[in-house]
Amino acid sequence: MKQKVYFKTFGCRTNLYDSQVMMGALKDYDITEDENEADVVVVNSCTVTNGADSHVRSYISQVEKNGGAKIFLTGCGAHTKGEKLLEQGRVSGVFGQSEKLKIDEMLKREEPFYELGDLNYIDEAVVDDFIGKSRAFIKIQEGCDFRCSYCIIPSVRGDARSMPESRILEQITKLAGNGFGEFILTGTNVGSYGQKTDSSIASLMKRISQIRGVRRIRLGSVEPVQMSDEFKEILSEPWLEKHLHIALQHTSPQMLKYMNRRNIYKKDRELFELLAEKGFAIGTDFITGHPGESQELWAEAMRNAKDLPLTHLHAFTYSKRDGTPAATMKPEVSGNIAKERLHELETLVVSKNLEFRKSFSGELDVLVESEKDGLFVGYDQHFNKIIIESDEDLVGNWINITKYDAREDANYARV
Ligand code: SF4
Repeated sequence: MKQKVYFKTFGCRTNLYDSQVMMGALKDYDITEDENEADVVVVNSCTVTNGADSHVRSYISQVEKNGGAKIFLTGCGAHTKGEKLLEQGRVSGVFGQSEKLKIDEMLKREEPFYELGDLNYIDEAVVDDFIGKSRAFIKIQEGCDFRCSYCIIPSVRGDARSMPESRILEQITKLAGNGFGEFILTGTNVGSYGQKTDSSIASLMKRISQIRGVRRIRLGSVEPVQMSDEFKEILSEPWLEKHLHIALQHTSPQMLKYMNRRNIYKKDRELFELLAEKGFAIGTDFITGHPGESQELWAEAMRNAKDLPLTHLHAFTYSKRDGTPAATMKPEVSGNIAKERLHELETLVVSKNLEFRKSFSGELDVLVESEKDGLFVGYDQHFNKIIIESDEDLVGNWINITKYDAREDANYARV
């Protein structure tokens, strides 16, 4: 009887993709989605913040308490916390992302092992399914050449490099053939796709849109400086989601300098206004409480944020990461103040999102992803959630909705 493996994935969509690759590479094991029946647990970890590290550690404690399935650690945390967890005997093996295709053999090893592999490898894997998902995450790029003061990612994901275009197109053709219509292009710094291979994110998306069965393309987080003229030319394409996530990280010009960011607030605002004019919902990343964030700079940042047509927010309080330039920067901001500022910003963007949904009068193009307690949950072209009542099973369906109720937490409809 084959042993059962459970994959616990933390962090970003790139990790989601990597877990799918590992699931696809297993031969002598069965995959279970019930961690309680697992003989082996593979923890695909994240290390972007202290919080991410402690989530991984407490999850490993939970598995240990549950009767001790064998635990293997991979993902970005393998590079920062792996050695210690192996020394403590809390995991049976640690491997880097580049080693993931060897998973079948590695899980059989009796001796503990620590193999981080090549930080700058190029992923050649192709997956043909996304277990439990109705949309597919496609890793097109990995690593990052930016050097933001607070960020540990370049040291755990390597330099920016693009996956071979032929493999990406083969990947999507296969998944579209298996019924997937929505594709989310993901990576560490997605917008840098093609920079070293004489291509670009915009030209890749145009090629993907030609593949039969591709209905909607979504994009992971891009940098403002990567929104090229070529990219602006595809903004009206029907296959492009009407939502973009553009990582500002802050809206105070001085803070952007402290954070060693490449974006400039004045240009960011012009870009966001252009996108809003074209009907885009706009999300951003933001860090509050980075060293140097005085009350004056915060007040300036909030004034600027109020002027931006934001609808979605992915924000964190600053998290000191050893080895990053910001870790030694002064003056530091207290955790409580950082949390207060985060809450202030979240409250602002939640109200802007509701305003956007209430003022939109067109048709929602929804992909229904799941069902919970008899209600169906999906996302529209603006990446806004909709909860749908229906007597039919709608999971996996595309539906157009004109009559709906825009409430605080989501849109609601009956079909
Ligand atoms: S762009 Fe900055 S924040 Fe994003 S992964 Fe690169 S270094 Fe980190």
